Amino acid sequence: MDRFEKAVEAMSKKTKGEGKHLNADLRDRCECPACPTYVKCARQNDEKLFCFWGESDCISGGQTCICPSCTVWQEMGMKNRFYCIDGPEIVQRETPKNHKDPELVV
Ligand code: SF4
Ligand code: SF4
Repeated sequence: MDRFEKAVEAMSKKTKGEGKHLNADLRDRCECPACPTYVKCARQNDEKLFCFWGESDCISGGQTCICPSCTVWQEMGMKNRFYCIDGPEIVQRETPKNHKDPELVV
């Protein structure tokens, strides 16, 4: 079991209150609003944390993903990117999307 799998298992054991607190902390640390791919609609809807909650209702394409510079990504041992378009880490691990990212910023 790698770091991400351990983190997900630990999260699944949290109480509802603990889960809400953790979610709020992770949202605060999400760097998506600073990403060139992030759009005005996503900002208006306060969309964040795509790595856990999945695709954006607003973002449909992009060439840069700054997730690897995010402390959530690093601490959780994530391996994928472009969660706002391709879905959360847990899904991308099962079904790799091979998103083209020629301008990847790490
Ligand atoms: S890894 Fe990406 S989607 Fe997840 S919290 Fe960080 S910036 Fe947001
Ligand atoms: S491309 Fe990555 S960093 Fe940018 S908004 Fe989407 S998930 Fe967040």
